[in-house]
Amino acid sequence: MTNVKVAGVTVDTRHFINGERVASDETFTNTSPIDASPLGEISRGGQREVDMAVAAARAAFPGWAATSPKDRAAIMHKIADLVEERVSELANVETMDNGALLRSHLRGVMPRVAHNFRFFADYLVNDLGHPDFETRGHNNHVSWDPSGVAALITPWNAPLMLATWKIAPALAAGDTVVLKPAEWTPLTASLFADITAEAGLPAGVFNVVQGYGKEAGASLVAHPDLSRISFTGSVPTAKSIARAAADNLTPCSFELGGKSPCIVMEDADLELAATLAVEQYDNAGQVCLSGTRILVHENIADAFAEAFKAKVATLRQGDPRDIETDIGPQVHRVHFERIKGFVDRAKDGGANIVFGGEPNAELGGLYFSPTLVKNPEVDSEIVTQEVFGPVLTMQTFTTDDELVAMANGTEFGLAAILVSGNREHADVIAKQLVAGTIWVNCFFVRDLRAPFGGSKKSGVGREGGTWSFDFYADVKNTVVSP
Ligand code: NAD
Repeated sequence: MTNVKVAGVTVDTRHFINGERVASDETFTNTSPIDASPLGEISRGGQREVDMAVAAARAAFPGWAATSPKDRAAIMHKIADLVEERVSELANVETMDNGALLRSHLRGVMPRVAHNFRFFADYLVNDLGHPDFETRGHNNHVSWDPSGVAALITPWNAPLMLATWKIAPALAAGDTVVLKPAEWTPLTASLFADITAEAGLPAGVFNVVQGYGKEAGASLVAHPDLSRISFTGSVPTAKSIARAAADNLTPCSFELGGKSPCIVMEDADLELAATLAVEQYDNAGQVCLSGTRILVHENIADAFAEAFKAKVATLRQGDPRDIETDIGPQVHRVHFERIKGFVDRAKDGGANIVFGGEPNAELGGLYFSPTLVKNPEVDSEIVTQEVFGPVLTMQTFTTDDELVAMANGTEFGLAAILVSGNREHADVIAKQLVAGTIWVNCFFVRDLRAPFGGSKKSGVGREGGTWSFDFYADVKNTVVSP
């Protein structure tokens, strides 16, 4: 089978290599998290398909690298136009595939896919670079040259958005691309491949190999003919990619997991704090940046908990296609069981479950109720490990030193949310937090010019704005004598 119909949209489930559809002998079954219904058979790639895709990308590289930044940008804007025309199709298919809210896909995520392309196209033409400078009369000129074939490996929690966050800067930089999407959510990458062809991107510049991480993914990252590997996903996978990349010294960028604190200071606006805390359940808790550890000042802990509980009680859990739904299902049975395991073990250890703690009995399937665990042991796994579900913990602190130690007390350092009524005090705390992004009295305000990435085990490197070009391009300094 090569074509499936999902939400009324025809999706070709074969690989996309050198501008053509390529099938594998074997397939794997893709199911919807909404109701476990099979969505279709997907081509299961391995070494053969990876070799074909990298060869196609390598062959297309000189032509794409020689295309002027303006011409590259024009095609990228055309891609954005087509994404905007198809927001509804992409949103509906993505919701069937990963179970995230249709409302978010329509209003935020898919428009952002188009924005990723427009932003990096314009950045390349208008903003990249800094003025030449002189050394003893010699002129230094810095340029960002295309580097070769970028391998992009992406997760399932925001499939097309996270893929285009890498594809757009890589293409803008003049690289060619091989994308390996997550096996639980292969569909929108395939639709996107059609869009690139329609927009006039030359054959071989963008390729998609579908398949499992341990097969297609592992073959791709071990390929000797890559210039870059950019990966978003879990820490264990990043370690195995780093080992494979080491043999070829392929530069890697890693955007990994998090266990971010959501800090509520004694002088915080409780209404704002509760609103921001509820947002940590977005995407059924499957957001790397989520502030899953609520750290609240002892003196306001009860008042905060009441305000928070009241807001959570208004959340509607259900079918993500319903525009009124706030929390959908988890992405996959395996992931659902993993989340349940964390909560069950916490309960076995005597954890205080304030609400939730169980699958949603009414909905069944993969719907796990929003959960709050109060005062778990500081070093328990529910506090230190990434659950990646709608499961928050709440702990209290009394002094700033205690707060900072708790906030920095995991191996992760992706983000932090800080709710405070005192800007100066917030600055003092923010300076001591180890994290790639810190939001003060807000959450998820993202600007593509800003560096994005994690400290400690949350990542290696930064992407966004110039940082993306620094990674995907070969940065060169040309010094000319007077
Ligand atoms: P994962 O590591 O299991 O898989 C991610 C991708 O890697 C998939 O495409 C998978 O097929 C592939 N893969 C698996 N094994 C591989 C191997 N040996 N070689 C090459 N590729 C391989 O992660 P996941 O479960 O899909 O995603 C969830 C994780 O991603 C969470 O930890 C989350 O925090 C993280 N994440 C981070 C960010 C960020 O920007 N920092 C964003 C979203 C998700």
